Amino acid sequence: MKHKLQYFCKFCRKPGEVEYDDSNPLSEEQVATWLKFVACDSCAVYYRTTRDMTRRLYAVCNDWFGVINTPHDDLDARNAVRNKLNKILTRLADAAAKFKHVQAPETASHVETLVDNPRKAGIVLHQLLN
Ligand SMILES: [Zn+2]
Repeated sequence: MKHKLQYFCKFCRKPGEVEYDDSNPLSEEQVATWLKFVACDSCAVYYRTTRDMTRRLYAVCNDWFGVINTPHDDLDARNAVRNKLNKILTRLADAAAKFKHVQAPETASHVETLVDNPRKAGIVLHQLLN
């Protein structure tokens, strides 16, 4: 039988309700533990997007770091990495803006920072998300 259980989002502590099917073979203790890990939709989307985009950003920056200042560091390569970084940073900025109910921060200067110095990914992330 399905019923509603109260939870508090593990990130923002906002109360919510989640449907639980008690035909699952879980003890009351297991259900209580499970409820501690439930996130509201807003936090779930934000944290999943930032996690995925952060991983992608570091992967792109890491690859770019291997190319920069080599003979493969040409205009085409720079434009290709610029496009990738622009997509990632735009998604991060949009996710942060939606989550915090603020206007999306500008990303163009951050993209150029990373094209010039991919080691600054952590600094750029901090500036975009905080
Ligand atoms: Zn939340």
